[in-house]
Amino acid sequence: MRLAVIGTGYVGLVSGVCFAELGHEVVCVDLDAEKIDKLRRREVPFYEPGLKELIEVNSAAERLTFTTDLTAAVQRSDIVILAVGTPSLPSGEANLSYIKKAAEEIGRALNGYKIVVTKSTVPVGTNEAVSRIIAQHASYSFDIASVPEFLREGTAIRDTMAPDRIVIGTLSDRVRQTLTELHAPLTANILITDIRSAEMIKYASNAFLATKISFINEISNICEKVGADITRVAEGMGYDKRIGSSFLQAGIGYGGSCFPKDTQALIQLAGNVQHDFKLLKSVVEVNREQRMKVIIKLEQLLGELQGRTIAVWGLSFKPNTDDVREAPSLDIIGELIVRGAIVRAYDPIAADNFRRMIGTDAVAYCGSAIEAAEGADAICLLTEWPEFKELDLRQAGAAMKSRVMIDGRNVYTQEQLESAGYQSYSVGRAAHT
Ligand code: NAD
Repeated sequence: MRLAVIGTGYVGLVSGVCFAELGHEVVCVDLDAEKIDKLRRREVPFYEPGLKELIEVNSAAERLTFTTDLTAAVQRSDIVILAVGTPSLPSGEANLSYIKKAAEEIGRALNGYKIVVTKSTVPVGTNEAVSRIIAQHASYSFDIASVPEFLREGTAIRDTMAPDRIVIGTLSDRVRQTLTELHAPLTANILITDIRSAEMIKYASNAFLATKISFINEISNICEKVGADITRVAEGMGYDKRIGSSFLQAGIGYGGSCFPKDTQALIQLAGNVQHDFKLLKSVVEVNREQRMKVIIKLEQLLGELQGRTIAVWGLSFKPNTDDVREAPSLDIIGELIVRGAIVRAYDPIAADNFRRMIGTDAVAYCGSAIEAAEGADAICLLTEWPEFKELDLRQAGAAMKSRVMIDGRNVYTQEQLESAGYQSYSVGRAAHT
């Protein structure tokens, strides 16, 4: 099939590349000309394991092309996939301006029947609005469908090529048939449903996962007070198939471009229909407080942070991505700076994005974790990059002024920290002093 994918962010680019890999003819569109130029040179605009190789292979096979010309891309395609951003407005509601603008452009570009698929995460009712906007500008018939995306950054290719499920929201037989065929090589559960339910499935899924994280973090807070070990508690819970072990790792909370904004958007969506989503509001509040525990624990171990040197290991919101949107590191480093601490940060790949996002020169960026630890009064581990697990804690400790570790992701065992001579705090376990 011939596809146009609008938006070459994490979702659009990965989807476009994977559909090309499945044998479809894909043109990826973005209004960011610099991004498109890069992609034409087969450079990847962000870090995602395996993506570069697939771009190279599929570009060489001429199944994958890149353009800023939305009209031309739409006109040569049978299916148009909307994958533009839906960031938060200050109110928490989803900002639909990119979606609406793209819908307008698609409407103007239509030169025959097309299926317009929304992959962006959008509040219930948005696809109907998209349909109205396209209809206002189009002289041809079209159908819309909601096919929400569930990929995770860091494992996006695997998630797209082997998804747990594909949700197709449509009431049209023609659309159902075409989209089932489009996804046919993927051996996933396909759920066909109405558009509003498809839109809701995405928000409900993210809200549930965020709830699981805040739940285990609350349990970890109690564990610390009653002398239980959250790692063992989560392990014991996870063996229960009704619960499952994923998303039960206690830590400093979730971040990223999806959970924070999607939980806020769902709270707003519920509020718009006079439903006070109390549970989800608490999930968000617990997550906010969990980040601040790093600062509280540092102050307990070091006293005032003014003039103290703090090494921060990990800036991205999770490992295997350079995405720092809504990362806990932004809030935590912001607080350290406010308290007058000197911050030495290291991340394998996210430092450049972090520097752009935080908007201050007050952070020293280091070339390695050990370099960041030099002269530090404490290390705060904020992202569980695999290389931190392998690191020689004694070597890091030898470079420090005092061996204090805030292990925000429970990467190390108590024994590892203890034998390397650290005073430490890890989440949901007794502090070691
Ligand atoms: P992103 O911000 O990384 O990328 C969006 C891209 O769309 C940008 O490159 C932007 O320039 C482009 N764009 C905006 N308007 C355009 C237009 N009119 N024409 C062409 N290009 C346009 O966003 P993302 O992280 O890929 O997320 C996209 C959507 O998918 C969001 O709704 C998000 O919630 C959802 N989602 C994201 C993830 C994830 O892990 N990032 C996972 C599942 C779902």
